[in-house]
Formats: sequence, C-alpha cells, structure tokens
Amino acid sequence: MSPIPAWDDLMVNLGLEPSAPRRQPASRPGAITKCGTAAGWDRHRRRNEPPCDPCREAKNAARLKARRARGVTPLKIAECGTAAGAHRHWRYGEPVCEPCRAARAEASRAQRAKRKASS
Ligand SMILES: [Zn+2]
Ligand SMILES: [Zn+2]
Repeated sequence: MSPIPAWDDLMVNLGLEPSAPRRQPASRPGAITKCGTAAGWDRHRRRNEPPCDPCREAKNAARLKARRARGVTPLKIAECGTAAGAHRHWRYGEPVCEPCRAARAEASRAQRAKRKASS
C-alpha cells in the first residue's frame, strides 16, 4: 500500500518547484507612484492635479524616449538663438530664452517683409 504522495513530492516529480510561493506583483495597486516618474505624471493627471516639475520633466523624457524608439528623433537638437530653438522651447513647454525669442522675432519680421515685398 503506497502512501498518497504529498503535493510537494508530486510537483518535484513533475519537475516543478515545490509549493512555490506566489510572487508579489511588482507594483501593487495602491502603491504610491513617486514624483519624478512618468507614472507620477499619470497620477497627477488622474487626480486632476497640475503635474509637478519633476514629473513633467520625467514625462518629457519618456515622450522623447518613445519618440526616439519610433525613429522620429530630429537629426540634431535645435540650437538656441534660432527660430527652431524657440520652437523647441515651446514644444517642451519651456520658457523661451532671450536669444531664441530675438531670433524668432527676427524670423517673423523677415517673413513679414518678404510677404510685403511679394504682394
Ligand atoms: Zn509629481
Ligand atoms: Zn533657447
């Protein structure tokens, strides 16, 4: 009369780990997401809060990374002191720096002059 094998023995016989403890999920629901992460940014949005600076930066970095992963990164970062630089500031929600502001004003002035000349 053979004894009924214990569950653990059965698992070992099957090549499985005996009664492996359930692993805790990496992020439990209700775990507080830290600021300065894209998840923190999402949390702010869910709570209808304005995202704080570290979260916004983290989200921007994550967006940039995602964009880069899709292969749509610009060939080079627009330099300051150019209209493209001003556009970059605007896109990233940064305050436009003085050289960029001047360059943009200059560019729009030139464009206006060109339009005037052609009409
Ligand atoms: Zn935050
Ligand atoms: Zn600039």
